[in-house]
Amino acid sequence: MSSFLRDQIAEDVRTQKYGDAAVQTRFPPEPNGYLHIGHAKAIFIDFGLADEFGGKTNLRFDDTNPAKEEQEYVDSIMGDVRWLGFDWDRLCYASDYFPQLYAWAIELIKAGKAYVDDLSADEIREHRGTLTEPGKDSPYRTRTVEENLDLFARMKAGEFPNGSRVLRAKIDMASPNINMRDPVMYRILHAAHHRTGNEWCIYPMYDFAHGQSDSIERVTHSMCTLEFADHQPLYRWYIDQLGIFPSQQIEFDRLNLTYTMLSKRKLLQLVTEKRVNGWDDPRMPTIAGIRRRGFTPEGLRAFCAAIGISRTNGATDIEMLEHYQRDDLNRRASRAMAVLNPVKLVIDNYPAELEESFEVANNPEDTAAGMRSVPFSRELYIEQDDFREVPPQKYYRLSPGKEVRLRGAYFITAQSVVKDEAGNVVEVHCTYDAASRGGNSPDGRKVKSTIHWVSTKHAVSAEIRLYDKLFLKADPSDVEEGQDVLDGLNPNSLEVLIGAKLEPSLADAKQGVPYQFERVGYFCVDQDSTPGKLVFNRTLSLKDSWAKVAQTTA
Ligand code: ATP
Ligand code: MG
Repeated sequence: MSSFLRDQIAEDVRTQKYGDAAVQTRFPPEPNGYLHIGHAKAIFIDFGLADEFGGKTNLRFDDTNPAKEEQEYVDSIMGDVRWLGFDWDRLCYASDYFPQLYAWAIELIKAGKAYVDDLSADEIREHRGTLTEPGKDSPYRTRTVEENLDLFARMKAGEFPNGSRVLRAKIDMASPNINMRDPVMYRILHAAHHRTGNEWCIYPMYDFAHGQSDSIERVTHSMCTLEFADHQPLYRWYIDQLGIFPSQQIEFDRLNLTYTMLSKRKLLQLVTEKRVNGWDDPRMPTIAGIRRRGFTPEGLRAFCAAIGISRTNGATDIEMLEHYQRDDLNRRASRAMAVLNPVKLVIDNYPAELEESFEVANNPEDTAAGMRSVPFSRELYIEQDDFREVPPQKYYRLSPGKEVRLRGAYFITAQSVVKDEAGNVVEVHCTYDAASRGGNSPDGRKVKSTIHWVSTKHAVSAEIRLYDKLFLKADPSDVEEGQDVLDGLNPNSLEVLIGAKLEPSLADAKQGVPYQFERVGYFCVDQDSTPGKLVFNRTLSLKDSWAKVAQTTA
């Protein structure tokens, strides 16, 4: 896959822009939430491109905001990056650079490039101007260097309350780029930080920390999403004023997915309002959520390669993400038979005491996966959906008088039903053709349908969790006036089936191993599962609407 990012790096290596220095990148999350699929794209870019050029990647926590940051997020982020298949060169924290950033702030004050401002946040906003109007200078802009040094030292010493003063860069209140209109460098925040504790009561703004952190780590290529393009001139200004290592920022498009919310703030709201069951709820687009759901890093990587990188933001169909997951799961998932909504099937002419077993392939895509044997007896479970007493047109599955194949076993013909008092079919009775053992009849007779089954006396029970899209609209942010994004949640995104019956081999299913329940979908063992109470998640159903779209447009 070609990309302008790769071309740019290749060019810089060729022209020795950074001399002999190896390519250095970083992935810079703020530890204020769990990583999501959009971050996975950034991770594949940051780590992937560095790997390609024999370079290195740091994991750097941009932890400049003590109010929202927690160790839990730091730990989850490290786990997620590893799960995606990457290991960082150095583990860094912007908070480790607080002393250096403070020294640089003093350097800028001494150079007459920064000043302490007593305006309130609201007044600063009013002075900032708009896209069409220039800003106004603060009355405190002309303070002397001595006064600024004194006030900034006292800010650090904790003499002033939150919000009473800030340190600002003295750049240009009339700049067409609003980020250059004397941006705030430091604010007062009497709050404990997850790493530095109460050492500081002034904290650098993200924009005063990010570019210099890159510089300290001698990052050659600082890749980030497009919304930072307008901040690049400011990062450059700080680097130029301080005369430090000139990291180069290059922007790429953010991943947006239909029916999906990729904003940490909104995802946090889903969690705190208990609209989902935590950050790793399998409906969440977090790495923790999709991992629990059964998605694979390989499938994500293939997806990220397919969407490519561009310089304009757009939205990607969620079906495309699912397509690459199915593609990967199809290759690696062990097949098994499981009946989600069971009804009993009794083979009247099969000997009551007889038990057989059938050898079936674990994965037709991979002969190395071997065979397993599935027990068979006179009473089986089949899906309620696979039988109709009165079949609609083109219904080729089981109905009275119709013959179908039981997967890998025999041909059977439905004969009669037993109903409960409410009129529901509780047993289907049928006869089998003993000559069709293995699933084919010697006279070459054809059947139009093959259904899956589980022997009742060998079956294991399980709870099955089925997931659907979390949001109803393709663009979840498209809401009526006065409504919140979370009003657009799909009320049916989770369905729990408690009476599923599985073939006995699944009693030993391991967490982290993908299964394809034949004809039903891809499944994995959930972390809530115990030997006494199996719980499976449906990762995805089998049908692949993206493959169809891709085919018709090919
Ligand atoms: P927020 O949603 O809170 O604004 P964020 O998602 O940008 O935050 P960061 O922790 O700042 O979170 O992100 C770390 C890196 O991941 C940044 O370099 C950012 O550009 C990148 N990133 C974040 N979201 C996406 C996305 N949807 N697609 C691609 N890259 C992303
Ligand atoms: Mg961000």
